[in-house]
Parts: sequence; structure tokens; C-alpha cells
Amino acid sequence: MNPVQDAELFRKILGVEPPWSVARVDLSVKDQRIDVWLEHADGVAFPCPQCGKKLTLYDQKEEREWRHLDTMQLQTWVHAKVPRVECPDHGVKQVEVSWAESGSRFTKFFERFAIDVSQETDTKGASKILRLSWDESWGIQERAVARGMARKPPLALRLMGVDEKAVGHGHQYMTLVYDLERSTVEWIGEERKRETLDNYFRTLSEAQRRRIEAVGMDMWVPFIESVRANVPDAEGKIVFDRFHIMQHAGVGVDLVRKKENRELLLTGDPTLKGSKYLWLYREKNLPEKHRDRFEELRSLHLKTGRAYALKEGLGDLWSYQSEGWARKYWRRWYWWATHSRLKPMADVARMVKDHLTGVMTYFTHRITNAVAEGLNSKIATIQKMAYGYRNKDHFRTAVLFRCGGLDLYPSNHPISG
Ligand SMILES: [Zn+2]
Repeated sequence: MNPVQDAELFRKILGVEPPWSVARVDLSVKDQRIDVWLEHADGVAFPCPQCGKKLTLYDQKEEREWRHLDTMQLQTWVHAKVPRVECPDHGVKQVEVSWAESGSRFTKFFERFAIDVSQETDTKGASKILRLSWDESWGIQERAVARGMARKPPLALRLMGVDEKAVGHGHQYMTLVYDLERSTVEWIGEERKRETLDNYFRTLSEAQRRRIEAVGMDMWVPFIESVRANVPDAEGKIVFDRFHIMQHAGVGVDLVRKKENRELLLTGDPTLKGSKYLWLYREKNLPEKHRDRFEELRSLHLKTGRAYALKEGLGDLWSYQSEGWARKYWRRWYWWATHSRLKPMADVARMVKDHLTGVMTYFTHRITNAVAEGLNSKIATIQKMAYGYRNKDHFRTAVLFRCGGLDLYPSNHPISG
């Protein structure tokens, strides 16, 4: 290849448009890198980045460099002196260039690729693939989230979900607001207090709050209070999430099992030893390999077996088509649970009864926070990621980057080139 062909090749690869052109390309095999210098034609006018007014060159800042996509295995860097213009209205400004966002040390192509890579792996893995430092690849994610948030269209939330997530070590909590229709995380706030959720509602207009048709959540008093205070006609809109309710029932079964196991062990009977996880499955999800042992346990008429049957029975509540039939079924189940002489299960029954209005709203709205199935597993992965998120802002950025449904890429339509 000759230098003229090199320049033309890189002009095409980089998508460089007049007045910019490729002045020179250097290949260093020793350093495993390619350097491309861009320059602009003399005497051209550049637009003010703020108002677009065409202005003649004021001066050129010192040469800057941007990391570009690798060319084969060679790291590729773009260099240019970026002109400044003097606008009568906005003063001396650096002009925008088509290949990079202002302030970025990467070309748009590179950032776009880095965003794709980072969505598939954690920051450590992305850094390795992209040959960046951890801080550099984290910075790309932060910028992408800021970009996405700035572009986010006005909110039209209809079906809202609220959840709490433990973050890092200790018991730090974050409150997450979901858009259940889009399966995205809409907002993240610190702690799980009433004020936390109040802060979210404060970002909404009166009309936006009125537009909310249903709110899926756990039976968590601070959230209930906040929704009641902030969403008009909240009573008919709060839907206590069935999966949360079933988790409470699961805890009830486990309490029964623990107590019964202790009693049995005192008489030298190890029947229930090591059976904890079998009772946590819903029957339809029980893995095949456990089926024989589980059937055997259930045939023994243990208290744990009865508690389990109650839990399964409660789960059937949500399979009804109409609220009327569901209420009939509920009354039977409630009687059964409160006469079971299994205190943890009777406690669950009474807790659900105290929240029955918000349980029965399911039959109007039919929402659950677990509809966002992929979303919850993504957030769980973020929680587990090696970097732990001691810093709550990191957790927020990581969640919005992967679950925010944001438009993260650098724009391909700069004002000027
Ligand atoms: Zn201007």
C-alpha cells in the first residue's frame, strides 16, 4: 500500500467528511498501534457548537487523540488539532467533530462498541476485552447513562412496580421503581423509606401521577403509605405482588420445618434432615431428581407436609379468572390455614387477610413485579458482580446502564464535521 491509499482507506473507515481529511497514517509494528492524523482544509468556516453560526477559525488547541476501534489487532488512535471559533454571542468555543463527542477520549465508533461489550459482561471483563483500565470502561458506562437520561422522553408510566434491593455488604437498601410495561428500571433511590418513594413521586407531575393505573409491590408499610399519599385513588391501584406473598408463605413452611425437625431429632428421627430446599420449590418446579424423596416425605403426614400443602394451596389463588371466585376460594383457604394448628401458616393467613384489598386488585390489573423476569435476574447479576457496589452511585449507574431501557449510544448526527 502507498500512503495515499492508506489515507483513503482510513478516511472511509473513520467516516471522515470534508472539511476534514486524513493527513497521515503511521503503523508501528513494534508498539502494535496505528496512528491516524486528521486535518481540515484551510479557510473553512466552522459552526459555533451552541448556535450553529458559521465562523472563521479563531485558533487551534493543542493536538488531541482519541482511541478508535482496533484495526486488526492493532490499537488505533486518531489525532487532530480541534479548532476554536469566536462567536459574538457565545464566546470562544471548541468546535464539534464528527468522530467523537466533545470531552470524550474515544471515537463514537469505539464508545458504541464498548457499550455493547459492557452490556454483555461486567466492567472487569469489558476492560480486558477492550484493553482499557477499569476506570476508563466505567467512565464510558457513566457517560452512556448520562446521555440516555438526558434523551429520555417524558414519562408515561401506567403500570408501576416498586421493589427494594440489598446492595453491597451490610444492610443497605435501594428502592427501585419499575415500568412494568416496558420491563425497565425507571428510577433508583437510596434506602427503602417512605421518604425514598416520596422523592420519586416528587419528580412526577400531578397528571403523571394520575396516569398511574396500578402499582405492584410487597406489603411494606412505608411504600404503601407513600403510594397512598401520592397516587390518586391508590386503594384500588395497589397490587401486592403474588411472588412476594408466596415468599412469605415459603418462610412460614420453613419455620414449621425447622421446629418439626428439632422435635424429630430429639427422638432420634432424622427424617427431615437436609430437606430444607425441597419444601421451597413449588410442586410444578421440583427437579426430577428430588421427586422420589419428596413424595416419600409427603406421604408421612408431617406438619411440614401440611404447611407445604397450605402454601401450594395459597399459590392457586391467583389462577382464578374472576375476583368473585378468588374470594370464595380465599375464604376456604383462610379457614383451612387458621385451623391448621400451624402458627406460622396462620400468621401468613392473617397477614394476607389484613392486606386483602390489595391482593384482590390483582384480578383487575393482573400485574406482578416478576413479569419483569429478565429484569430481576439482570439486577441479581449486578448485585453479585465482583465490584460489590459499596458505592451506591455505582449500583445506580450499573442498573440504569443495563436495565434502564435508555438510548445509550453516542449520536451519529453531530451538528457539524
Ligand atoms: Zn454561538
